[in-house]
Amino acid sequence: IIERSALAERLECLGQLAGGVAHDFNNLLAINLNYIDFVLEDTLDPEARDDLARARASGERARDLTQQLLLFARQEPGDAEIIDVDSVIEDARALLGRTIGDHVELITRPSRQPLAIRADLGRMEQVLLNLVINARDAMPDGGTVVIEASAVRLDDDPDRLPPLPAGPYVQLQVSDTGMGMSPDVAARIFEPFFTTKAKGKGTGLGLATVYAIVTDAGGDITVSSEFNVGTTFRIRLPAVAARETREGEAVAGKVGGGE
Ligand code: ADP
Repeated sequence: IIERSALAERLECLGQLAGGVAHDFNNLLAINLNYIDFVLEDTLDPEARDDLARARASGERARDLTQQLLLFARQEPGDAEIIDVDSVIEDARALLGRTIGDHVELITRPSRQPLAIRADLGRMEQVLLNLVINARDAMPDGGTVVIEASAVRLDDDPDRLPPLPAGPYVQLQVSDTGMGMSPDVAARIFEPFFTTKAKGKGTGLGLATVYAIVTDAGGDITVSSEFNVGTTFRIRLPAVAARETREGEAVAGKVGGGE
């Protein structure tokens, strides 16, 4: 298991490297795909069209990969604003649409009270999408994913890693009834490029991106998993009052609940 601080450092290094390469790659790939489209327009021969379609498909796959790299590499905190957690969940649900598949049931359990966090909306949606798509992939024969939001209060705890300050937090849980993972796998899932998926299916960047987004926003993410039973990801982010003062200063809300 890598120490968290070492992991963060490694993420940053890799992020910078990957970001530079991915940016140039992305532009080159766009040119490549454009030329393939030009040739496709003028080509009638079915065999040549078939070959071109294959070249296009692998180019698109490479473009998806570099876009994911870029997303992961972006180190700036994004546009942090005060956002309502339930609306993030509903947006993610709408975005997931049919990608989730008929065999997987997605249940969302919003909180009973308004919960607000300070984060970038697009990046938070990205977090939920990554977690839900992983959950779907872990349930090839179908199952249930539950996204649940609640308010929790953390007390001082010197043993907690990373040491989140005591205070009110918003907790987001994403649970599935999938294949789960072994402790060996669970220990490595937040590492960039770690994947157990078949070649061409996984990039190993999904959870590294999730980890970067959540810790950037001042929170933490943990996983608990049981082989053949399911997996639960738990995210905690500092809660802020839903109403913001004029200066943009949020006053920490009084959020009930406890751990
Ligand atoms: P990728 O999805 O491209 O493999 P991720 O970083 O998103 O990359 O995930 C890394 C690995 O973590 C996956 O390959 C899988 O082994 C494991 N994993 C992630 N989410 C789950 C889950 N819900 N259930 C079981 N295994 C999971």
